[in-house]
Amino acid sequence: MAKPSTNRQLSCETAHIYDDAEGIPENHWSRLFFSHVFSHFTDEQFAGMYKERGRYPVSPRFLACICILQSMFRASDRQAVENTIMRRDWRIALGIGRDYKGFCPTVLVRFRARLLAHDGAQEVFDTVIGRVEQLGLLRNRQRVRVDATHLLADVSWLSRCEMVREAIRVTVCDLYDRHPELHDRVDLLGLYDRYGEEHWLGPGRENDQTLIEFGRDAKALLALCGELAVKGKQELAQILEENYTFPEDGSPQPVEASELASDRIATPHDAELRCAKKGDKMWLGDKVHLVETADPGCVNFILDLLVTAGRVADLTVVERLGWRLRSRYPWARRLLADGGYAAAANSTICEALGIDLVCPPHPEPNTGLIPASEFNINFKERYALCPEGHRSCSWSPNGNKVNIRFPVTACRDCPRRDECTRSKRGRHMGISKDYEQLQRDRERAARLGHAAEYRNRAAIEGTISEAVRCCGLRRSRYRGSPKRRLHAYLAATALNVRRLLRALKTEGGPKKGPLSRVFGFCGLVPCAAMGPV
Ligand code: SF4
Repeated sequence: MAKPSTNRQLSCETAHIYDDAEGIPENHWSRLFFSHVFSHFTDEQFAGMYKERGRYPVSPRFLACICILQSMFRASDRQAVENTIMRRDWRIALGIGRDYKGFCPTVLVRFRARLLAHDGAQEVFDTVIGRVEQLGLLRNRQRVRVDATHLLADVSWLSRCEMVREAIRVTVCDLYDRHPELHDRVDLLGLYDRYGEEHWLGPGRENDQTLIEFGRDAKALLALCGELAVKGKQELAQILEENYTFPEDGSPQPVEASELASDRIATPHDAELRCAKKGDKMWLGDKVHLVETADPGCVNFILDLLVTAGRVADLTVVERLGWRLRSRYPWARRLLADGGYAAAANSTICEALGIDLVCPPHPEPNTGLIPASEFNINFKERYALCPEGHRSCSWSPNGNKVNIRFPVTACRDCPRRDECTRSKRGRHMGISKDYEQLQRDRERAARLGHAAEYRNRAAIEGTISEAVRCCGLRRSRYRGSPKRRLHAYLAATALNVRRLLRALKTEGGPKKGPLSRVFGFCGLVPCAAMGPV
């Protein structure tokens, strides 16, 4: 495809002349989308995704805006192309002229592949947030908040038997289709007959005997594949290795369910996918961390997002989020986060980056013994004084912790011994290396005003709900980790567009008070032709 360039003649006015805008209010979402979103994309910004020569492509800015509208309307590729022909609001939003005849929906598939290969999703997101910034909607916003939600992969949850069977099916079908020279092999034909079609095992058939049978067939199939390049072969080998042991006689025996590795492969259709768990909730997919502005009474926007594997703990991403905030939005000074992101080390990191991390610190563990806060701990000189004035006899750092011991002789004769220790070897304490920071965080959390400030975080739950319900963030439309990231970016961009349209429609309307909910939050604007907002 040749490098695209923008048709400069297309302006807000001509778009509306193309499609007679009579009867459509000035502040209709389609007209606002055209002038504030579509017009701010250029074909040149996507030129890097195309080659020098070849056929002239469908305008990439047009395709990028269709991708955003797809997330806003939850439309499939086919529906989206249909909408560009049949829906007047889409035609106005995308500045479509009369001679437009549509295009094949697979163009969108190939465009997303280009976005994936060149990190174009970030470009689409940045263009929209750039426009928001240009309009002054991010001025004086120093407070931001973060929260995570899960993004389900586009795969089914399979039991162990189903997973092994499905892995055999994928491999045997590919082997059969791509290697006709093996069609005279009786063992291949037997396997193809038994596993060639999708089949739900159903209750009662999932037992060790079935697993052993599948394991035996999987092993035979791998032997049949040999060195041939076959789809699903590696996944099948990995599944076999993780789910079976091979005793001396070579017949596979299923591993006990309690001994299965927690990071084992979950489906043959996505080898990188792992089962994630939070509390008693389990899911197959990733985690999306959304960072948004946090000002009450204003329309807030997603500034950044981070997609991690579902098993990555929230507190480990704070440093990455901090660096990204510092480099992209240096004006962000305060980050509100829930207890999942809380760690004294994170407070230290954010402080170094010039960001004030506001989150509930870990409380003092309630052991029923004298808490560490009653001890005088001196990190500089590496000793601690107990409430009875005795000095510690040992100070041993161990990883992220410091182990402190008090002399047995002092503790044995101490009047407060029952309150302080149950050990015969004297009091022992294991404290974090960042204990001083943790204490500072705890003191700050106890101060007046901290709770009121922290309360500004709660509204991000509404943002997540909106992203899930209105932009389809919960379930990925595409398979594979990079595509899930693309899906998350498009959903976040769609959410920002919704909010930008909302902010533009409420311009001049009440920002505070009871009517602000009507005009701003609910999106119920005095406009007869309501769009997706
Ligand atoms: S039990 Fe030991 S550490 Fe605790 S107060 Fe008494 S002397 Fe100090």
